[in-house]
Amino acid sequence: MTPTLDVTTTFPLERHASPVDATTRAGLLENPGFGRIFTDHMAVARWNAEKGWHDLAIQPRASLQMDPACAVLHYAQEIFEGLKAYRTDDGGVTLFRADANARRFRESARRMAMAELPEDLFLASIDALVAADREWIPAIEGGSLYLRPFMIASEVFLGVKPSAEYLYMVIASPAGAYFKGSAPSITVWVSEDYTRAAPGGTGAAKCGGNYAASLQAQAEAIREGCDQVVFLDAVQRAEVEELGGMNTFFVFDDGSIQTPPLTGTILPGITRDSILTLARDEGLGVREAPYSIDAWEADAASGRLRESFACGTAAVVTPIGRVRGRSRDFRIGNGGPGELTSRLRERLVAIQKQQAPDPHGWVRRIL
Ligand SMILES: *Cc1c(COP(=O)(O)O)cnc(C)c1O
Repeated sequence: MTPTLDVTTTFPLERHASPVDATTRAGLLENPGFGRIFTDHMAVARWNAEKGWHDLAIQPRASLQMDPACAVLHYAQEIFEGLKAYRTDDGGVTLFRADANARRFRESARRMAMAELPEDLFLASIDALVAADREWIPAIEGGSLYLRPFMIASEVFLGVKPSAEYLYMVIASPAGAYFKGSAPSITVWVSEDYTRAAPGGTGAAKCGGNYAASLQAQAEAIREGCDQVVFLDAVQRAEVEELGGMNTFFVFDDGSIQTPPLTGTILPGITRDSILTLARDEGLGVREAPYSIDAWEADAASGRLRESFACGTAAVVTPIGRVRGRSRDFRIGNGGPGELTSRLRERLVAIQKQQAPDPHGWVRRIL
């Protein structure tokens, strides 16, 4: 989907009077890391019942003034998205499946009883901000401009109800290569005391509250010397669901792949969907079906399970080499990145960089 709106008139640019100078910016972009540095501008839009969406603009990036009784600070009515703008070899700029982020943002809003931002406004806000801050896209190998759209309940009221006002914003943060070269394998910690999402809860919405609820388990994983936490389903504490911010995949000796189904407790990742599509394109057997932690351990031991990986926009595809828990510790394959894991990662990255054909029309050139 391409935006049907005229981007520059929909989100008019109020240019920063004193942006970061080119030399300082070049220095920052040499090693941007992730989420530490930010561009000169931000997209803003407000909603209330009377005016609908209004005050749309690209403005100089600045701190927010907030009343301490602002609803989001108390009841966490908040959603967000994460996507990247890429620099192409010929100096252009592309987005990967931004229309899917726009749709998911609306679905998250609905679940959190928030105003829904029309998808063409979402896309226009992204296009306009990237155009204003295009000099901030790192030229380094694997670099991108990470875009963080989010929306908060901005009504000043302590009563518990859906807010009557919302503030939508997009901020942008230059990001380096998540990994240098091929992705190293991670060790995941199986959380037995904490779950991430229960049936009927908000697990399928991209909301800050899900992350708040995952931090204690993630901290435990780090204390145990692991990289990430893996959550089990909240009812039986048996089925593998996902990591704190990445979906999970399993690769079997017959060449088939499997991922947990979207039953409401798992975030419907766009990377997950892209991997499923690429695997089906290749003619691989693909299953969206529950997989228990006991089966994961048994199949890893028998050799039936060959590879496992996690996936999401930030790190694309990350091999899982080892699984630990209070009463388990097993290795996947030889503990290193698996063959299919690496191939799927490379195919996806090649499409994102426009170095391979894009049969599904996932990449949209915006500049
Ligand atoms: C964002 C997110 C993902 C990955 O989604 P992508 O669209 O692939 O970036 C997976 N799990 C959780 C909990 C997330 O918030």
